[in-house]
Amino acid sequence: MKITMKPIAELDGDEMTRVLWKQIKEELLQPFVELNTEYYDLGLPHRDETGDRVTLEAAEAIRSLRVGVKCATITPNAQRMEEYKLHSLWKSPNATIRAALDGTVFRTPILTKRVKPYVRGWVKPITIARHAYGDIYKAVEMKVPGPGTAELLFRGEQGEERQEIFRFTGPGILQGLHNRDDSIESFARACFGYALGRGEDLWFSAKDTISKTYDGTFRAIFQRIYEEEYRAAFEEKGISYFYTLIDDAVARVIRSEGGFVWATKNYDGDVMSDMVATAFGSLAMMTSVLVSPDGNYEYEAAHGTVTKHYYKHMAGETTSTNSMATIFAWSGALRKRGELDDLPELMHFADMLEKASLDTIASGYMTKDLALLADMEDKHIETTEGFILKIKENLDKLLA
Ligand code: NAP
Ligand code: MG
Repeated sequence: MKITMKPIAELDGDEMTRVLWKQIKEELLQPFVELNTEYYDLGLPHRDETGDRVTLEAAEAIRSLRVGVKCATITPNAQRMEEYKLHSLWKSPNATIRAALDGTVFRTPILTKRVKPYVRGWVKPITIARHAYGDIYKAVEMKVPGPGTAELLFRGEQGEERQEIFRFTGPGILQGLHNRDDSIESFARACFGYALGRGEDLWFSAKDTISKTYDGTFRAIFQRIYEEEYRAAFEEKGISYFYTLIDDAVARVIRSEGGFVWATKNYDGDVMSDMVATAFGSLAMMTSVLVSPDGNYEYEAAHGTVTKHYYKHMAGETTSTNSMATIFAWSGALRKRGELDDLPELMHFADMLEKASLDTIASGYMTKDLALLADMEDKHIETTEGFILKIKENLDKLLA
């Protein structure tokens, strides 16, 4: 008897990850689960045909079904425009979906015994939560041609407020940043809620000793929301919330054993997530989930469509593309569906799918990217599909 479920939104994508997507469904999901999805094809040709309407529809479906799983997609640039003969340079689907859901992105590495993190002490995953609004990503910048005075001016309903920034005696540069309390509040709630869900401590870092008003506001909002809405639940779970300066946080993260959620401002998260991903081993082992303040979840792999492998695949060459992060996107979405509907069988299936995948690597069968990093003698490099079939063998055994 296959496991039944309520629908989730399924967002298909491009290139090599689209190839993986089909194999994962056919080999690892459909034999065991009566897979119930609302399918949206976000492959670039279909986004182009629909004038990118399909991306908005998919975001809407995530909102109404509360759970979605997304395949990696191409963000078009000039070269893609030519390659796919596009009608327009469509926006990044991830940016569109993030804006529609007002979400926070959490990135967590998949750890295996075989791939040792570059940082020896890290034995548990570190999840980075990046605020995806404002700061330098919405900055206004100006080149200063020569001597003059720069001022900050706010024109409000109650009047004007003005502050001198700097008196230039020669040429220079200027930048104006902003953020919104409501965006910081929903970021804070997403982080507290997510840490609570994982049963892990939450760290938040900024630089409020220097940036007393800007970063100071982030710190104060986090503290207020913690006290008012989350302290009791955190204490009951035996976890804690901890604020520290970003430079102190970096030092502590390196000395830590992992096992916490690290909330960061937009730029810090951009930089630190690449550092943490690389230090844990491989981009192909990083999962990502977008969580909206009203409790909708979109799961995906953190990597892209692996274009180089796709061109090889299309040329008939064998490939060894790592499907772990895409498999974990599916297991994450199915587990969340199970949690929301109180379906222990579906949650168990998600656990077993992850276990079968990790067991496969532990027993020495892996893709090339992992083989280069794996700390063992006896290892076998599998093809893209061969790796998925090995996982299926393990899954069959676990569910027999
Ligand atoms: P990428 O697809 O992540 O691949 C970069 C390189 O990382 C690959 O060439 C490969 O290295 C390695 N790699 C990544 N994932 C792997 C996997 N699963 N298994 C094995 N190796 C893996 O990044 P990109 O080449 O910069 O971008 C390709 C396309 O993806 C672009 O069109 C971009 O817009 C899109 N993209 C989408 C998302 C998303 O949808 N979330 C995110 C990022 C990029 P080797 O070639 O050395 O084997
Ligand atoms: Mg980055």
